[in-house]
Amino acid sequence: MFRSATHRFLLVLFPLLLPAQRFEIPGEVRQGDVLHVRVLDVGRPFSLEAELNARKVPLFSAGDAHAGLMPVSVLHPAGSFLLAVRDASTGRTLHTQSVLVRDGAFPEQNISATGRMQSLKPLPGEMERVHRLQRTVSLQRHWAEPFLPPTGDCMNSPFGVKRLHNGQPSGRFHGGIDLRSPKGRPITAPSGGVVRIARMLRVHGGTVGIDHGQGLISMHLHMSRIATREGRTVKRGALLGYVGATGFATGPHLHWATYVHGVAVNPLQWSSRIDGCGGRSEESQQIE
Ligand SMILES: [Zn+2]
Repeated sequence: MFRSATHRFLLVLFPLLLPAQRFEIPGEVRQGDVLHVRVLDVGRPFSLEAELNARKVPLFSAGDAHAGLMPVSVLHPAGSFLLAVRDASTGRTLHTQSVLVRDGAFPEQNISATGRMQSLKPLPGEMERVHRLQRTVSLQRHWAEPFLPPTGDCMNSPFGVKRLHNGQPSGRFHGGIDLRSPKGRPITAPSGGVVRIARMLRVHGGTVGIDHGQGLISMHLHMSRIATREGRTVKRGALLGYVGATGFATGPHLHWATYVHGVAVNPLQWSSRIDGCGGRSEESQQIE
């Protein structure tokens, strides 16, 4: 407390004597992507947060830098918005800048749900369990870029596609990417983390959810078999399970999703090594 108060006192009296902070924040971001916010030469007493369009996220300390991830939802309006970095303890604004949110230009896609899929009901607590994990923010960072694609297969449905169910607008979008993988193909951890969900669910099917730390979560759905346990700390490349068609799916595939502070963001931004399957994108095989 004493150091902190002293530091603030000095900051008021002698702002020019303290090392200048440097803010490394891109000037633009696409809908569905994450803005990497990084502040260098912070000095010890600060706990920092960033705010964009009323969403606040913490910046985590790493040596003399602070860094955090600001998710920009598919549904965030395009245009110019003000981003602020603040001292979280006093609310004092240290930096503001304009950030251009670019239109994601997401296409539409029709889903032909079968009778079995339409009658699927989640297990008691299933949706709550999944949503709780998506919003989890734990302090320790386990992840590093680039991510390893969880299977070596091509993508047949991209992120952010506006969904029509049997030709009718559903008001929903595809919250992950679909990898067209044969049943039984191994699925591996895209980066380090702690397995928080590893169980057969009804709508999501065989599900493994990993907490990568500091607000970044990845989900792997529709597995035929699960090969890890809840509570296990895994490294990049660890076996999680096998591709299947369980839950809301019409054929074998992996639905891979990443969430930052509860917001679905494009998994491809962590890993550029995934190609499209080519040709017409499939009408089936998805969830959400
Ligand atoms: Zn999907």
